[in-house]
Amino acid sequence: MDIPLPDLDRHLVAQFQETTRSARRVIVGTHLNPDGDALGSALAVSHYLDALEVENEVVVHNGPPYNLKFLPGSDRIRHQSQWDDHDLAIVLDLDSLDRLGKVRETFESVPRMILIDHHIPHHEPGDLRIVDPTSPATALLLAELFLAFEHPISPAMATCLLTGIVTDTGSFRFRNTTPDSLAIAATLLKLGGDISLVSEEVYQKRPLAATRLMGFALENLQLSPDGRVCWSVLRLEDFDRLGASEEHTEGIVSELMAIDTVQIAALIREPKQDRVRASLRSRAGIDVASAAREFGGGGHKNAAGCTFMDESIDQVEQKLVQRLRQCLES
Ligand code: 5GP
Ligand code: MN
Repeated sequence: MDIPLPDLDRHLVAQFQETTRSARRVIVGTHLNPDGDALGSALAVSHYLDALEVENEVVVHNGPPYNLKFLPGSDRIRHQSQWDDHDLAIVLDLDSLDRLGKVRETFESVPRMILIDHHIPHHEPGDLRIVDPTSPATALLLAELFLAFEHPISPAMATCLLTGIVTDTGSFRFRNTTPDSLAIAATLLKLGGDISLVSEEVYQKRPLAATRLMGFALENLQLSPDGRVCWSVLRLEDFDRLGASEEHTEGIVSELMAIDTVQIAALIREPKQDRVRASLRSRAGIDVASAAREFGGGGHKNAAGCTFMDESIDQVEQKLVQRLRQCLES
């Protein structure tokens, strides 16, 4: 099979290969509220370690959301570690260890850490860092890594990696879509990755509560007088009334962003008492990551998020919308 070999730093590739091959017991993790790139990458690494016959476990703050349960190996995701003597941690798709949530301490107690990520570097944790903020997905970096040292990619791994690439590029519609992401996706298809399964499970299936929540959020959206900032607020009582939860908010902010006058969109929600979260999106040339960082969050220039503890959702709405309007001026 004709497979293009990617252009990764040879030294990093060799170190990754050597460190994982000589590991004895590995803990693999990713950020809380994991998305397709996070879980696709973590499970691909777990399948890789299985192939090396290296003992491993995947430990994540929360379980797979509804639309990612199909990922091969998703049943192995744990909320707590079963061992306390790991010699290696591998963390994926995060820029700072506080994004690990309640399992952070477990990861921090491991003597050696590999970090693979594509966010704008933040605190720079990890002993071996494979970080490229220009890459559209962590799963793409991983696929390139495996191809670089010609590790055989199984169909299960290929489906996990494809999921990360497909979801983080918005099915190859976002500006971050590169020629490499399409080429590697084609390679993963050749290796048995099931792209129609990914599309159906991720995009063509949702519980009724999620559709009702989206309907409510769209019906009640708000616009700045100039029509350039759009936001919607979902309160605890809305989640309760509709029987919905945080994972059912997936996709709503991109519908707000699709309104033709809108330059910045935000979905502000309180899925649990005293915890308000915001998803931020923007068009090219407008940076919302800096606003997210000011509120303790982060992300990418055009897709970022932040979390507010112990603040009323009305307060958050007011200060966030005000800050987002400033983003348009800079
Ligand atoms: P989403 O709105 O889809 O949850 O997140 C969009 C992007 O922002 C993702 O890259 C995600 O990792 C990042 N992000 C979302 N919430 C937070 C947060 O609270 N802290 C940080 N550092 N990044 C976040
Ligand atoms: Mn990602």
